[in-house]
Amino acid sequence: MPQPLALPRRQLLSAGVAGIGLAALPGCATTGTARPGANACLPRVNVSEDRLIRSVVGLRPYRPSGFVVRAEALGDKTLVHNYGHGGSGITLSWGTSRLATNLGLPGHRGPVAVIGAGVVGLTTARLVQEAGFPVTLYAKALPPDTTSNIAGGQFHPFGLFRRDSVTPEWRAQFVAAVDYSWRRFQIMVGDDYGIRWLPTYTDADQPEAQLLPTFPPHNRLLRADEHPFPWATATSYDTIYVETGRYLRQLLRDVQIAGGQIRVRDFATPADIAALPERLVFNCTGLGSRALFDDQELRPARGQLAILLPQQEIRYAFTGGDGYMFPRPDGIVLGGTFELDEWNTTPEPDAIARILASHQQLNERLRCTT
Ligand SMILES: Cc1cc2nc3c(=O)[nH]c(=O)nc-3n(C[C@H](O)[C@H](O)[C@H](O)COP(=O)(O)OP(=O)(O)OC[C@H]3O[C@@H](n4cnc5c(N)ncnc54)[C@H](O)[C@@H]3O)c2cc1C
Repeated sequence: MPQPLALPRRQLLSAGVAGIGLAALPGCATTGTARPGANACLPRVNVSEDRLIRSVVGLRPYRPSGFVVRAEALGDKTLVHNYGHGGSGITLSWGTSRLATNLGLPGHRGPVAVIGAGVVGLTTARLVQEAGFPVTLYAKALPPDTTSNIAGGQFHPFGLFRRDSVTPEWRAQFVAAVDYSWRRFQIMVGDDYGIRWLPTYTDADQPEAQLLPTFPPHNRLLRADEHPFPWATATSYDTIYVETGRYLRQLLRDVQIAGGQIRVRDFATPADIAALPERLVFNCTGLGSRALFDDQELRPARGQLAILLPQQEIRYAFTGGDGYMFPRPDGIVLGGTFELDEWNTTPEPDAIARILASHQQLNERLRCTT
């Protein structure tokens, strides 16, 4: 089976790394700044089992040919699909929702239904409201019980398609979605939504380290002596990080403040949707679309994460072959796995132990710049 497009932070961490126990770190003063200058070190994450506050599992809605944004007729209704974002649902949410609303809203009159209350459903609902239409949001589960709540929250397109399976038309949608999302997130930065910028380092030698020539803008290639990681070259750039729990809670509030109705409801078949009173329906059910619309291309890509006690002084993030680290106010997110066709949502202690061990090893190999 061909491999999915899997990027550093999405790769399954290699097994067999050393056991838990933090080894001595190189003796250099930390600067507390995000980018080390000469003779400086980045502050380190304290990786140990006793700092683990939770481990989580989520199933990314992965499709080799990419997300689906498409309109079709369903009886007397227009149904607009917006699902299948793989490992990039937070990143792409505003953008694909914009593409979806551009397909569905022109010429429509009256109330609108949105199915799904993950990040894609919530952003779709907000765009529909911003365009002046009343919305009812129907969902089997609400935040915090969605896959979107599990996401690490980095803005970066990862793990959402396979290169040989996408069309030029899809690529155009992808570029447009990243562009709109990128601009939308920038005007939401701040504590209300739990969104902030962080300097980020990526192992430049990892395959698929950059999916789009246009993103991230302003990245810099650093030689080995210019960055602290045990990689030959690193790419450094600034991107946006989302504290997903806070963000989704706030988006749900925004939908309600703007008059949106919330209905907890499980749809078993398209016929259930056809019976809704609204004549325009957006399908934002993520992995749920596999059963609901018999989309057999849609598969779970399970991700397991270890969350450590927060450390305020960590103000940088990284992604590499040994894993990824996103510091959030609610905990340090250490990833992770990308396991296709795994449906089990119970964290596996062995996988979590491997994530911790891998990050401990990386810590031991961090250098100060010279
Ligand atoms: C470990 C992990 C880390 C990740 N990290 C990142 C990251 O750093 N950056 C990033 O951009 N993305 C990341 N992702 C990917 C991201 O989480 C997903 O792409 C995103 O959550 C998909 O959002 P969604 O709204 O489509 O689906 P969901 O969040 O799953 O929401 C689907 C909604 O539809 C409802 N629903 C489903 N079926 C039905 C039905 N039959 N009837 C009624 N309602 C239904 C559900 O109850 C839910 O409300 C990560 C994912 C995982 C698992």
